[in-house]
Amino acid sequence: MSFHSISGRVSYISGGTKTGVIELESGGAFLIDCGLDKRNAERIMSELRREGLHPLAAAITHGHADHSRGCSFLKEETNLEIIASREESVFIEHPRLEPRYLFAGARPPKELRIKSLEAIGCPVDHKLELKEDALQIFDERIEAVPLIGHTPGQLGFACGEVFFSGDSFFTPKTLNRHPLPFFLDVTRALETFAKIEDRTERYFVPSHGQIVKAEDLSRVLEENRRRIDDVSDILIRILQKPRLTSKLGGKVCQELSIEINNLHEAVVNRTALMAFLSHLKEKGIIKAEPSSEGIVWRGVD
Ligand SMILES: [Zn+2]
Repeated sequence: MSFHSISGRVSYISGGTKTGVIELESGGAFLIDCGLDKRNAERIMSELRREGLHPLAAAITHGHADHSRGCSFLKEETNLEIIASREESVFIEHPRLEPRYLFAGARPPKELRIKSLEAIGCPVDHKLELKEDALQIFDERIEAVPLIGHTPGQLGFACGEVFFSGDSFFTPKTLNRHPLPFFLDVTRALETFAKIEDRTERYFVPSHGQIVKAEDLSRVLEENRRRIDDVSDILIRILQKPRLTSKLGGKVCQELSIEINNLHEAVVNRTALMAFLSHLKEKGIIKAEPSSEGIVWRGVD
């Protein structure tokens, strides 16, 4: 982990998930995301100390454990204020809901109650409404921007020339690693891409992967759109013949060369697939029919 300056008083600390750092006029620091665990939190603290910065607040883009699990450690150590959208606060304060919803709402087996899926509950001090677009935090103009799609209440944060985009879109490298991208709401994710493309910042900072400069943004967003189109096309082709969700999932994994090695991957993958099915159904391209074996999907003639 190390400290990287981006522009003006906006920097980030590298790691599995980046932590954004905005130096406030007052000398304190405003953080964006807190990483996965205690080790991350300790490294964030040591990097901040080295820069002479004391964290006053941390905004969490969304409730996934790799962004929010470090919160409780930082809060314990510094009593910083935690900020998140009202929707994501539910998961940050009650992290057991994450493996539970991935397991269709039922009590999740212990294999799903793992660090990468279940954070440690942390109270959120400021719950932002998603419609609240620009907010003044401390003495800086830091804008909170709803970025729905990857999760229901994700927020991006803009300051000066820098836009922290969370997991709203993925870099080409991440897309290659995860051929079935995790967007809980594909329709809204596409709207979010358009919203990001209209922004005027110079640097776009995804939580994972390299920073995207403004001149490269359209190309990266286009790759995300293309991936959504490719997955949709595969589903439409497969559904020329009616299939149960599980059979469809198997075919999609085959076509995208996805290997499923554990329960965690199985439920995450299924959830991503359900989001695509919901998207195509909303568009009237496929339909869902009940059967005693589960949902049968088929293309609309
Ligand atoms: Zn995420």
